[in-house]
Amino acid sequence: MVKLTIDGIEVEVPRGTTVIEAARQIGINIPSLCYLKGVSHTSSCRVCVVEVGPRLIASCTLPCENGMEVKTNTPKVREARRTVVELLLSNHKRECTSCNRSENCELQTLAKELNIRDLRFEGERISYEIDNSSPSLVRDQEKCVLCGRCINTCKNVQTVGAIDFSRRGFNTRVSTALDKNIADTVCVNCGQCIMACPVGALTEKENIKEVWKALADPEKFVVVQTAPAVRVALGEEFGMPIGTRVTGKMAAALRRLGFDKVFDTDFAADLTIMEEGTELLTRLEKGERLPLMTSCCPGWVKFVEHFYPELIDNLSTCKSPHEMEGALIKHYLAEKLGVDKKNVVVVSIMPCVAKKFEGQREELSNENLQDVDYVLTTRELAQMIKEAGIDFTKLPDEEFDNPLGESTGAAVIFGATGGVMEAALRTVYDLLSGQDLESIDYVQVRGTTGIKEAELTLPNGKTIRAAVAHGLGNARQLMELVKSGEKHYDFIEVMACPGGCVTGGGQPIVDARTQACIDVKAERAKAIYDEDKDMPIRKSHKNPYVIRLYEEFLGKPNSHKAHELLHTHYVK
Ligand code: SF4
Ligand code: SF4
Repeated sequence: MVKLTIDGIEVEVPRGTTVIEAARQIGINIPSLCYLKGVSHTSSCRVCVVEVGPRLIASCTLPCENGMEVKTNTPKVREARRTVVELLLSNHKRECTSCNRSENCELQTLAKELNIRDLRFEGERISYEIDNSSPSLVRDQEKCVLCGRCINTCKNVQTVGAIDFSRRGFNTRVSTALDKNIADTVCVNCGQCIMACPVGALTEKENIKEVWKALADPEKFVVVQTAPAVRVALGEEFGMPIGTRVTGKMAAALRRLGFDKVFDTDFAADLTIMEEGTELLTRLEKGERLPLMTSCCPGWVKFVEHFYPELIDNLSTCKSPHEMEGALIKHYLAEKLGVDKKNVVVVSIMPCVAKKFEGQREELSNENLQDVDYVLTTRELAQMIKEAGIDFTKLPDEEFDNPLGESTGAAVIFGATGGVMEAALRTVYDLLSGQDLESIDYVQVRGTTGIKEAELTLPNGKTIRAAVAHGLGNARQLMELVKSGEKHYDFIEVMACPGGCVTGGGQPIVDARTQACIDVKAERAKAIYDEDKDMPIRKSHKNPYVIRLYEEFLGKPNSHKAHELLHTHYVK
């Protein structure tokens, strides 16, 4: 431990603690911009300077030392911080009233906190074209503050490296290799750079206008579905605490927005377990193309396509749950309801921006109709609710519509890392044993350890060796272990986003200061597991509507019909 004083207050912290972290422990918030806990500690912006003796030093990389005397609030410190922020603002596209990040912008917050009213430095401004090439994200370099948080996320956390600093001095910018459009790089559309960006330089590609237009068209039958992770984060956009469950309010809001049917992607998550579980058992029986790797995360699928094309055949042929649900809405439900499938518009509300890219993939269509027409993020849904003047917090709880809105606890946990694996294990064991196992909490695959392993001995004596990774850096490590032969698994779950979909690229953005104090992944995942516990049915194969769908339409899991609608094959 080391002892120091910060603004005259004595504090004792473990060796290695930085001054910015020690100050937070005693209730002093040192402002910062480039610092993002666990991702970016570069002291590049120098907003977090403090006075130590005669010097001004960046506190985000300054380790605490015995006897250190730190001053965080002196005229010299305040002036230095103000100058840094004013210089940033002088070369910033100041569209604060119309910017996507208005009221959720760390630069705006800093300017307000530092009482910046006039800008002393109105100098040269650099102008860049907006990169609109990706179906998932938009890059506006004129709003970039060069903090490097997106680069560190893409390069170090995700190990993708689609973006980096280029040029020098005043011309420094964040760019792609050879300044290509982001859509022409190895970007996998995970959107984690958006979550890291403190300002509006990186945002999702909005589809709100298209959805409003469909809702206003009397010819269209507009159906919405919502992913599991959305319900534990949407409330944050309306001031509710991180991890509040708002499932019923969300269904009510969607009905008030005018959707003709409000379904739950969780239904198709249960269906995924039936299809993927059967695929796993068949591959195990035949000893074919193992390990089977989950395919419900489009960021992960793209990562395999870019970096591990030799493993594409190991991906499950199952479409992701919202694509399955979209296919069923158009090719099963529409006929049941007497609606022309060409007039059906499927809108998916997802915690994800990669799903926007996925929704446009040719492989995910039937009879020339895309399974899903528009994907909106949790943030875009919140925007629509606000635009419609709906007082979200006062809404009553409502249920999803049926038959594609009924789900089980196994489906809900898809939203957290390890959830798909746990849901699959719950069903595979029961199906093979003919039992209804009571102990179904597979805690080995829960939590935020980067790579988790589990073994399940089946009633036939065979053991399933499973592994779970979240975040693409961990996925890369896992793939290298598999390829080198150091590890052998039968079943692997990967989610591209650290923590899984609960902290996906389309979820409410939590500022760096809050992230330093709250484990957002853990709070939202807890809400997911609480929802699972409260569900009357917690195993996918027991979903009565899934059972009925097989009886009435699909036949059996992996049937010809199921393959036609619910499966695909990715080829790079
Ligand atoms: Fe990198 Fe993901 Fe951002 Fe693409 S979306 S630039 S892969 S962090
Ligand atoms: Fe999307 Fe979830 Fe994959 Fe992230 S982990 S890219 S939110 S599906």
